[in-house]
Amino acid sequence: MSVLIRGARLYGEGDPVDVLVADGLISAIGSVEPPEDAEVIDAAGQVLLPGFVDLHTHLREPGREDAETIETGSAAAALGGYTAVFAMANTDPVADNAVVVEHVWRRGRETGLVDVHPVGAVTVGLNGEKLAELGTMAKSAAGVRMFSDDGHCVADPLIMRRALEYSTALNAVIAQHAEEPRLTVGAQAHEGEIASRLGYAGWPASAEESIVARDCLLAQHAGARLHVCHVSTAGTVDVLRWAKNRQGPGFISAEVTPHHLLLTDERLATYDPVNKVNPPLRTGGDAARLRAALAEGVIDCVATDHAPHPVQDKDCEWAAAKPGMLGLQTALSVVTETMVATGLLDWRGVARVMSERPAEIAGLPDQGRPLVTGEPANLVLVDPDAAWTVRGAELASLAANTPYEGMRLPGVVTLTLLRGRITAREGKIG
Ligand SMILES: [Zn+2]
Repeated sequence: MSVLIRGARLYGEGDPVDVLVADGLISAIGSVEPPEDAEVIDAAGQVLLPGFVDLHTHLREPGREDAETIETGSAAAALGGYTAVFAMANTDPVADNAVVVEHVWRRGRETGLVDVHPVGAVTVGLNGEKLAELGTMAKSAAGVRMFSDDGHCVADPLIMRRALEYSTALNAVIAQHAEEPRLTVGAQAHEGEIASRLGYAGWPASAEESIVARDCLLAQHAGARLHVCHVSTAGTVDVLRWAKNRQGPGFISAEVTPHHLLLTDERLATYDPVNKVNPPLRTGGDAARLRAALAEGVIDCVATDHAPHPVQDKDCEWAAAKPGMLGLQTALSVVTETMVATGLLDWRGVARVMSERPAEIAGLPDQGRPLVTGEPANLVLVDPDAAWTVRGAELASLAANTPYEGMRLPGVVTLTLLRGRITAREGKIG
């Protein structure tokens, strides 16, 4: 079985070409006559990119299968153009041991729509007190190479130091949810003018920036790799620039979410908890700096922080609502709106921030590869001129908590291939 993608522009550059996919690989590029068994995809006017890699996804299984399962989350990922996702450890039970990470990894393989890589917890039960068995998770069938207590910050500097030191022996990366918890007690929204007007307790930018600065210093001291999750403030961009200059390439990396690129705390005036997220939506000035930093490479990549919640956890008072929003199926469109339509990134740049850099950070050898003959056919086809209207109820996730409800966004994923197999096509699975 082979697939012929006819007349796409690679990275949106140059003349349209045909791309033949067979045996899981890109087998020919140019002007190709379709083999007899080939499925022919008309890709005129479309852009072919390497499949997207999400370093930050919450799939909720095990434990909260009323919000999302590995199967429904994988479907959302495939429809969003993803060929690999990293499933965060804050499940129930927590993915802090080999049994749970192997379970997640195996369920991902059985579903087969996207490569699901479990993230292991840094500390037992995410309680920040005792290092989890990182080595056992690394040696398990899941081959964990990214560890994070995401949802919680590894706040104790000694535990963070030990985790960073230990990670070097495992060739792993520690991904930190940077939030000094003593500065965010009871926090409900970005600390600023709008939160004070609405009477919400504030989540100050310095709670993020101080942890990022501390961790960059600890990582340098340990010679370890640190990945900063969901950067949300202009000050963190300054810290990252300083730390990267100081330490040189390859040690510090950072991600930004689509929602922090597009949405701001002005959304809070609606009192709609769909806008509640951690870290919170920041100011327009922060969003502008995040976009510029992503274009420049100070922020390496886009990660969704896809966080499904059932309706009872979102459709309630702001203070009682859980933080988080869906992201997998809308990421490409939000990046198109904020980065491509604004001229900040071309499509090659999109390939860098949504596929190549995240694959490098996570050490995936078969993702984010160049579009040349002989490479694994992990691919996504994007119609850059099409647009769609987001409807939470129509997304593949079990939950519907999208902040983009009713918005018309540019850029449509029309085809996703995982090792040469079609996982999503024209908004449908398989
Ligand atoms: Zn987080």
